[in-house]
Amino acid sequence: MRMMSGLMALVLAAPAVAAPLATPMQNDSYWQDGRAALAQRLAAVNRPKRAKNVILMIGDGMGIATITAARIWDGQNPGPGLPRRSGEENSLAFEKLPHVALVKTYNSNAQVPDSAGTASSMNTGVKTRIGVINFGQDQLAEACKTPNLLPRTIAEMAKAQGLGVGIVTTTRITHATPAAVYGHVPNRNWEGADKAYASADRAAGCPDLAAQLVDFAPGGGLDLALGGGRARFLPLAKGGLRDDGVDLVAKWQARFPKGHYVSDASGFRVLKADAPGPVLGLFNDDHLTFETDRDTAKEPSLSELAAFAVKRMQKASPKGYYLMIEGGRIDHGHHASNPYRALSEAQQFSRAVATVLANVDLNETLVLVTADHSHVMTIAGYPERGNDILGYIKNAAAGESRGSTSKEGWALDDRGQPMTTLSYANGPFVTPGLSRLLPPTDKNYLADKLHGTDSETHGGEDVALFADGPRADLVSGVMEQNVIFHIIAEAFGWR
Ligand SMILES: [Mg+2]
Ligand SMILES: [Zn+2]
Repeated sequence: MRMMSGLMALVLAAPAVAAPLATPMQNDSYWQDGRAALAQRLAAVNRPKRAKNVILMIGDGMGIATITAARIWDGQNPGPGLPRRSGEENSLAFEKLPHVALVKTYNSNAQVPDSAGTASSMNTGVKTRIGVINFGQDQLAEACKTPNLLPRTIAEMAKAQGLGVGIVTTTRITHATPAAVYGHVPNRNWEGADKAYASADRAAGCPDLAAQLVDFAPGGGLDLALGGGRARFLPLAKGGLRDDGVDLVAKWQARFPKGHYVSDASGFRVLKADAPGPVLGLFNDDHLTFETDRDTAKEPSLSELAAFAVKRMQKASPKGYYLMIEGGRIDHGHHASNPYRALSEAQQFSRAVATVLANVDLNETLVLVTADHSHVMTIAGYPERGNDILGYIKNAAAGESRGSTSKEGWALDDRGQPMTTLSYANGPFVTPGLSRLLPPTDKNYLADKLHGTDSETHGGEDVALFADGPRADLVSGVMEQNVIFHIIAEAFGWR
């Protein structure tokens, strides 16, 4: 009797389980999508605490306004054969990840940061100055002479543990974000031994970034490096930019006799993910071509590169790997104040994330998706649902006071001019090869801005960090950007 009543008390005290959840909205798409989102979060609660692999994906310049605009763009421009949707309800691939944090991006000496300082913070665990790659915040150029005192990077630590390291980017592979995986320089522009950056950077004593990539690191070098920037690796005599006569591609091939060097899409597409030896792919002398302008026969897409990279790292690094994948040219679209290219690059980045998520086991691979910093693009006005995200604002039916409206429904400013949803705080009014005298939905249109500058600038507000996999639960709240390093170290079990 006593035992019975104890059991009954336990039953009464237990929280209600499986009580009916009833509503007339069962067939509403918002309700159904909400239930699916809940199921995904429940699945993420019980991940293991140790990651075998970590993949850090960086959309360069992909601030929160860019994410919102790109999600609408992607819904309205889903690709051949797919119906145009309104867009606002769409989700980019990484927006479905269950853990999110806000990230404070400032550099140690700059309120609004650049890609060098921000990538350094993610790769070393400490912030540094704007324009500097993997130096401590107080270390100046002479620190090149004492490399043992420079911050250690995730890639260096991973190699010391016998893990693989890979890099994929759409920029020059010596550009700031990828360079922060393998290099240390007091000036991010010291990419190759070219005339443009001569005396001071040479005298400082740090090799140029292309040379550092080829010489990286204890434990066998980079397992995979795919991107652009070939001219920084080749001497002037071979059509490159190097004035020191060194052919770094030949040097890399001599260091890695079993390695695979490829320089175009056809060479890349016949590479086998399970063939032994490291891979170096340099598909353009400069940055890779914007996705919307890319010749598919000449250059692979970021999605293709990411798909190969994941399969390659899985085969080449059975103990685990660190892989950084960058959508590097969202930033370049914005610097031109050209939303079409910024958003189409963000769409391609999202597709690369989808490819990665489809090819990894989230119970052994931590996937982090973030931006290094924001841009000064805003989404404004009261456009109606489904209004072209690049277009002029067609006002929603009723709502707040919003100034005058043309008889066709276009929102007008105080000079009677139509306004676009997207605009910038600053940026160029004319860029060579691009014209502003075009409809706003044209891919070459430069959006309106407040201040004319030769290049649109970065934005200083927080960016988002999305995560799933082991220790993704540590991605929460408002974080300093260098905490990303510490979460990666914890996921790998480095104490
Ligand atoms: Mg970058
Ligand atoms: Zn930038």
